[in-house]
Amino acid sequence: MTTAARPFYVPVGDEEQVFAAAYRQGLSLLLKGPTGCGKTRFVEAMAYDLQRPLITVACHDDLTTADLVGRFLLEGGDTRWVDGPLTRAVREGAICYLDEVVEARQDTTVVLHPLADHRRQLPIERLGTVLDAAPGFCLVVSYNPGYQSVLKDLKDSTRQRMVAIELDFPPPDVEEKIVSHEAGVDHEVAARLVQLGQLIRRLETAGLREVASTRVLIAAARLFAEGVPLAAAARAAVAGPLTDDPVVTAGLHELIDTYLGSAY
Ligand code: ADP
Repeated sequence: MTTAARPFYVPVGDEEQVFAAAYRQGLSLLLKGPTGCGKTRFVEAMAYDLQRPLITVACHDDLTTADLVGRFLLEGGDTRWVDGPLTRAVREGAICYLDEVVEARQDTTVVLHPLADHRRQLPIERLGTVLDAAPGFCLVVSYNPGYQSVLKDLKDSTRQRMVAIELDFPPPDVEEKIVSHEAGVDHEVAARLVQLGQLIRRLETAGLREVASTRVLIAAARLFAEGVPLAAAARAAVAGPLTDDPVVTAGLHELIDTYLGSAY
């Protein structure tokens, strides 16, 4: 374990208590919430509190079972087995965080079933072995419920092996503290950006794939901390990433100029 400080995480509900309880009982966790709402930071803080190493895997649709579990690599004329991140976590008793698990193909996630339930076992077909998870191993998966097709939906049999924690963007007073802390800007600037975020989240605009997350508000505040005027910072860090549609972009720019334009 490192002696680094606890990752800065402000709880928004009872999520820390539920996570710690699930961990102690050897239950797996399913974190739901929009992108940029703090899921990764939350897991980092919990790994610190529970004093477990954290192994994170960003899932994508090319992810194979071998990417998770391991594979034989050719070395010279020989083959050598190399553990994948999931296997390492099982052996070390680490917290294994599979970020955006619905991105992974279902045949990949099947390997999680015996790990996620009471068996806590990882079958490694290629080695002809079944590994028992070391004490401390904990499987945590996350996904964004608003951002997936039915096809990509998690299998019920996977979901029902897990304890769910729902996270969302923090309330404005908390989000203000987070933006201020993360970007090193004063509260007034943070409050302005959070207000803008609130407005964008209330827009029912078809052209927006996602709403403004805490992450993009922090990015805008960071540009401002470097001397970029606040409205320009918000155009670059909030409006730009959210849409490519010229009409929606113009609308967002107007909103940004109205709320942030003259003040900073
Ligand atoms: P996700 O994993 O949900 O996409 P992250 O954990 O990467 O989101 O969060 C994005 C950023 O927002 C983090 O780097 C952190 O700076 C900040 N953040 C979001 N929520 C919180 C919170 N509750 N406490 C502290 N920081 C937060």
